[in-house]
Amino acid sequence: MKRLLLLGGGHAHAALLFKLIAAPLAGARVTLVTPKPYQTYSGMLPGLVAGHYRPEEIQIDIAALAHRAGVELVLENAVALNAARRRATLGEGRELEYDLASLNLGSLPNWFGVPGASEFAIPVKPFETFLAAWDALRVDAAKRLLRIGVVGAGAGGVELALAMRFALAAGGAPAEIVLFSDRPVALPEHAPAAQRRIARLLSMERVELCVDTRIVRVEAGALTDAHGKREACDAILWVGGAAPQPWLRESGLRVDKNGFVLVDATLRGVTHPEVFAAGDSATLDGAPHPKSGVYAIRHATVLEHNLRATLAGGTLERYVPQKEALALISIGRKYCLATHGDWALEGEWLWRVKDWIDRRWIRRFE
Ligand SMILES: Cc1cc2nc3c(=O)[nH]c(=O)nc-3n(C[C@H](O)[C@H](O)[C@H](O)COP(=O)(O)OP(=O)(O)OC[C@H]3O[C@@H](n4cnc5c(N)ncnc54)[C@H](O)[C@@H]3O)c2cc1C
Repeated sequence: MKRLLLLGGGHAHAALLFKLIAAPLAGARVTLVTPKPYQTYSGMLPGLVAGHYRPEEIQIDIAALAHRAGVELVLENAVALNAARRRATLGEGRELEYDLASLNLGSLPNWFGVPGASEFAIPVKPFETFLAAWDALRVDAAKRLLRIGVVGAGAGGVELALAMRFALAAGGAPAEIVLFSDRPVALPEHAPAAQRRIARLLSMERVELCVDTRIVRVEAGALTDAHGKREACDAILWVGGAAPQPWLRESGLRVDKNGFVLVDATLRGVTHPEVFAAGDSATLDGAPHPKSGVYAIRHATVLEHNLRATLAGGTLERYVPQKEALALISIGRKYCLATHGDWALEGEWLWRVKDWIDRRWIRRFE
């Protein structure tokens, strides 16, 4: 019996558990290590903040999936991996050995070495930390006019800035929300058509956009940009960039320049083929693609096939990333911007499409 160790209950492992319910892995004893019995679905998080969803509507019940799939669940954080000795260390010090492992650990916000950021800013991940801080902010906003800074104007930062603005205004406690982009635009990874639309939507919804503003220092109640300008903020939310679990660098697995595990097209570690990685944890060697849930979901199918093939001695599949992914960016109220390649569209009907897609994704796990 081979020991398969799954680290992290992300999109790819949730989808894998779901498949294992109907078709268990022959010849393997499977253990999943993840800190929470549920997984908060990031695609619906801005909708939760805006007040369109209840927490239980955006959670995947990982514990129930594991139970039904016959997978042992360990509610802990992995804190180290020794690829040479094939063992992972958990937060409480226990060590778990494996014959085959798969990493789907997601990512953390990247502080980019900015002094004070990890101390004084609220990280968007883990989502539980952010949601607790958001609850406290709402209480505070009911008592006084808050100025909230959001650092990072990619899709996640834009969506959360707009969702917070909408929720606070709807609750009768409008706050000033300032979104900081270190680039000349918001949504720098997207096409100019989407960037123009989002600039207009941010202005319409009264979210202040500060472009070319690289934050270089964070203190309690203020941040400073690269031009030396200091901005007072009652709270600072950090949504910038993606960083891996820091211990991956010391694992012995080959990692990319940022510390994410380098995998080949079959999602196996380039130096340790018995370790797979998927979702944000993985960087495809020679063909890196953006870190987003859309790709993590695509990894899931290949990961499942290749774990089965490795255990049964079959042929492994290759993952071919799609060139462009559709992005559906919610705008606080029930309105959405869709962008794919060069085009961008917006409307209330697109929010209904996004809502339908997101609910369908969650419901498949019930
Ligand atoms: C506000 C916001 C909105 C977003 N919206 C979208 C969107 O609409 N569409 C999209 O495609 N992407 C979106 N993203 C990006 C998306 O969140 C990530 O790319 C995606 O979640 C990565 O999926 P994953 O499967 O790699 O890991 P995740 O889904 O992040 O899961 C990682 C899992 O690993 C667990 N874990 C973490 N550390 C450890 C540890 N040390 N030991 C054990 N387990 C651990 C976590 O608890 C979690 O269960 C958004 C991001 C943000 C911040």
